[in-house]
Amino acid sequence: MQELWFQAKAEQSRLLPPVCPRCLAVGVRPLPVPVLGPATGPAATAYYCERCADDLERARTLQVARLAVSGLLGIGTATTAALILGGAQVGHQVMATVLAVALPLGLTAFSTTSDGPALYQIATDSTPPHWLARRREYLTEMTADVSTRPRPRTHLGWRHAVWPLVAAATWLLGLHWLGRAELRVIHGGGPADAIVLVDHRRRPSIGPTQSEHPHAARPVATLAGRRSLALVSETGQPLAEVTATLWPGRDYLLGTLPRGQCLFLESQEYGARGDARQLVALTGSGPLWELPVNVDAWFLPLRARPDLPTSGGLRTAVRLLACP
Ligand SMILES: [Zn+2]
Repeated sequence: MQELWFQAKAEQSRLLPPVCPRCLAVGVRPLPVPVLGPATGPAATAYYCERCADDLERARTLQVARLAVSGLLGIGTATTAALILGGAQVGHQVMATVLAVALPLGLTAFSTTSDGPALYQIATDSTPPHWLARRREYLTEMTADVSTRPRPRTHLGWRHAVWPLVAAATWLLGLHWLGRAELRVIHGGGPADAIVLVDHRRRPSIGPTQSEHPHAARPVATLAGRRSLALVSETGQPLAEVTATLWPGRDYLLGTLPRGQCLFLESQEYGARGDARQLVALTGSGPLWELPVNVDAWFLPLRARPDLPTSGGLRTAVRLLACP
């Protein structure tokens, strides 16, 4: 059965009675009266007895603890999901994180406690103030005109649940943003498409490449960490396979190169003093190349330095050219 509370409006000049709104014992501890609705002006003060004031404080601490636990659960789930799934199935990672936050909050939202405040002020534009109290006797101390009303649903509003959710979602976003390794995959053997596997999970297919062009390598979203990387033909034949540690923020190229072609790192300095263009062969025989710098362009030549002075800077490109 729904618990009934009591509502009354008191005269502006009437002070709240000096008794505990919860048990009607002598009130000694001043506590602000929570306002239902948008608060305007300073909160009124009610006097609770020592025991009830302690209970209220404990309930508030519990509420904060619940939010903290659900936030931590969300962060833990986000970390686990990102470690296991890496850059794959981001939708599932978001869903698991939201569930981990919402589940403990949802379970406690239905548990009705009697630990909340026993007196609320109702936000109204009009004066005098309206009060909502658990005990009728508390209000009859001020006025005889008391009406009944259902118990206010105030415990742990969904408004508060937003914070653990924001914390966990920000954490997940941070993991994917800061923990990202830039992985590109090239398939130099022909003629059919090949499938990229990251940690034995199927990722996009990639078409064969015979020569350099801007779409020769396909980016594959991957988080840093120890990863098992593979490129297999559509019939399941392994073309390239490696287990390696990918570092966040570094650029990697995985795959096989067309026959007779090698990887080069082209760098071009721009600006008044810059004149250096360098082309150096990338060492390593694959199937995974860790690039020594962050790459600006993949498999396309850099623009030559114009005759007019331009703003400075150094750009780097990965090139696929005939082997020396
Ligand atoms: Zn009390």
